Amino acid sequence: MRTSFAHGPKPAEFQRYIVLHDTEGTGDADSVINWWDASGHGVAAHFVVNRDGSVVQCVALDNIAHHAGYGDTGHNDFYGTCDESRDDKVGADQIGGWARDYGMNSYSVGIELVHVGGSGPYPEAQLDALDNLIAYIDAYYGSESTIIDHKAWRTGNSDTSPEFASFLANYQSHRRHAVQ
Ligand SMILES: [Zn+2]
Repeated sequence: MRTSFAHGPKPAEFQRYIVLHDTEGTGDADSVINWWDASGHGVAAHFVVNRDGSVVQCVALDNIAHHAGYGDTGHNDFYGTCDESRDDKVGADQIGGWARDYGMNSYSVGIELVHVGGSGPYPEAQLDALDNLIAYIDAYYGSESTIIDHKAWRTGNSDTSPEFASFLANYQSHRRHAVQ
């Protein structure tokens, strides 16, 4: 965990969403985290899931992480994420009038999957690890957070990639990547 990645308190009563991302790079979790750190923007997700199923945590669940960034104007109302006051917004750069809402980070846990869109399947070990991580987060909060992907928050964002679509549907309905 790195303190530069924590951007304010996120007490359990504000937890609503799990936001899934692709790293869009081939580097493993450690190299992704070093890249985030070096960028100086304070960007990070709470967890990064490697292709071999190992998981690295970068930010405590009770802290805000900058993983979702700005979303479509109107999405704070749509998602019920209107209170941005707990977020220090350090390093956050506005991207235009179409995407003014910044509330999602204050109400969510971010998970990055090491994956490049269009590069082929997600390994079973990585998906199994995500199953277990979501179960851990559900148990931590004692409730089931709504699962979305990054492009649901910001239209036109690349992650998660199209090859994740059936898994996302299964996570949203059954909280696991495969429905038996
Ligand atoms: Zn993302």
